[in-house]
Amino acid sequence: PLILGIESTCDETGVALVRGTELLADVTATSMDEYARYGGIIPEIASRAHLESFLPTMHAALDAAGVELAEVDAIACAAGPGLIGSLTVGTAAAKALALATGKPLYGVNHILGHIAVDELVHGELPTPVIGLVVSGGHSSLLLVRDLARDVTELGGTLDDAAGEAFDKVGRLLSLPYPGGPHIDKLSQSGNPEAIRFPRGLSQPKDRERYPYDFSFSGLKTAVARHVESLGGNVEDQKADIAASFSEAVNDSLVDRAIRACVDHDCSVLVIGGGFSANSRLRALAAERAAEYGIEVRIPPIRYCTDNGAMIAALGSVLVRAGVAPSGIEFSNDSSMPLECASV
Ligand code: ATP
Ligand code: MG
Ligand code: FE
Repeated sequence: PLILGIESTCDETGVALVRGTELLADVTATSMDEYARYGGIIPEIASRAHLESFLPTMHAALDAAGVELAEVDAIACAAGPGLIGSLTVGTAAAKALALATGKPLYGVNHILGHIAVDELVHGELPTPVIGLVVSGGHSSLLLVRDLARDVTELGGTLDDAAGEAFDKVGRLLSLPYPGGPHIDKLSQSGNPEAIRFPRGLSQPKDRERYPYDFSFSGLKTAVARHVESLGGNVEDQKADIAASFSEAVNDSLVDRAIRACVDHDCSVLVIGGGFSANSRLRALAAERAAEYGIEVRIPPIRYCTDNGAMIAALGSVLVRAGVAPSGIEFSNDSSMPLECASV
């Protein structure tokens, strides 16, 4: 089936075309450049940008794929989780298209899209598989028995998401927003063992009580204290702080993900979400998984951050699984549960 996918949960307007597990086109527009001076996303600006970008993005995607709207078998759009204003623009556009063309419409889960997109690169996912979604809003471990119908949330962050923690520490280190990619780059020239920052939930009793959860707020506070203790002399240590902080976050993520694989007898770990662009996460996951004979699948970086391909990919999974469409009247869900692939 040929699926048109629409992403608009945050600041990226994405439209993609997918046939089965083959990606035909993926076009993204972003309003991220507008937020550097605010140090964070402004929802009203993002909504307005979606409105302006949607049609040009869709036409560019159809052109790139060399298909007409009439050839599309189903339309998928992100129904949540995300910013309500951004979601509203994308889902309204998707509903209008579905009405005009008479095609079935699926309102899908953005977070599970971060997992589904891997199928476009590495082929169909095996089952069961452990999914680690790490992004600006989430750090979650999922047991995926069937992406369309059977996803269990094993655990997640008790406070900040990994990307969020990176963005906050980026601010502490006076790096441009969003800090994630800047810390990644900076940490490559630093010593990850220079400062021993705490690993959240690493005490035996916490490991027992929260086997698949994460906590990054204590770590963030530790970094803040360390920066304070240096007075004004942060510049010399910046790379070491970034590398040591990054190591602590990635150590926790990989530790829990491998544990979930072992406990649930899964030989494949799939990682997705904007934070999975992180170079240290990619290296550490590969290194530790190899020790356990676990295969790690991570999409190339351009499919880790938000895009239309991930939404089309999940739409394709649902259509192939015979899941009923959402219908035209569905509501967006800014806090859509991770266990629901569609509304
Ligand atoms: P969610 O998917 O939970 O709705 P989101 O869509 O805002 O959140 P994504 O776009 O998937 O999040 O990811 C953005 C996050 O990824 C930001 O926090 C950003 O700093 C982080 N990020 C991107 N690249 C890197 C990198 N190389 N290293 C660390 N973090 C990164
Ligand atoms: Mg984004
Ligand atoms: Fe995302």
